[in-house]
Amino acid sequence: MYLKKIEIYGFKSFANKVELEFKDGITAVVGPNGSGKSNIADAVRWVLGEQSVKSLRGSKMEDVIFSGTQKRKPLGYAEVSLVIDNQSGKLPIDYNEVRITRRVFRSGESEFYINKSSCRLKDIHQLFMDTGLGKEGYSIVGQGKIDEILNASLQDRRYIFEEAAGIVKYKTRKNEAEKKLDKTEQNLIRIVDIINELE
Ligand code: ATP
Repeated sequence: MYLKKIEIYGFKSFANKVELEFKDGITAVVGPNGSGKSNIADAVRWVLGEQSVKSLRGSKMEDVIFSGTQKRKPLGYAEVSLVIDNQSGKLPIDYNEVRITRRVFRSGESEFYINKSSCRLKDIHQLFMDTGLGKEGYSIVGQGKIDEILNASLQDRRYIFEEAAGIVKYKTRKNEAEKKLDKTEQNLIRIVDIINELE
């Protein structure tokens, strides 16, 4: 599994549609300060479901939409797509190539797509769980991330190993099942109460 291409339109400094293809080997992005290098990494994290505007270096989600310059009007929406090669089948979906898209409008409305089919943010999280590429994955190592890992609590550090070991999806399913069980137990208690009231 590897990132083949990223398409960016209207995201932060990218007013025009930009397509970046990643070939074999190392790709380095170079440019003057403030030219938008980090915005590319932000775009990748955003499309993978990053919801924290602080970690996207903004104060509200609208800040990811191109806000205009002296010569160009602001845009109404931002859209980013990642094209991932899935010939290894690491992503649990029956496609050799997977396209993930996220779009956000100034109204705050957000849309997510997997291979052009509309989906929920939860579907994107589930698709990337245990692959290392999700929003909490370890594939994107930002500035200060190493320090953050070294200073993290044992529990937070353990999460990184769990993601690498591929057990996060089982833990998530276990939590969901426990919540359902809890709800069912509450319902049962309620039913017993009603029966007692009727007797
Ligand atoms: P450095 O080398 O200093 O880390 P960089 O190349 O990584 O810089 P970025 O931080 O990616 O640069 O980009 C910052 C630029 O993006 C700034 O010029 C900022 O004005 C621009 N920018 C950020 N958000 C928006 C937005 N919503 N609309 C327009 N431009 C934006």
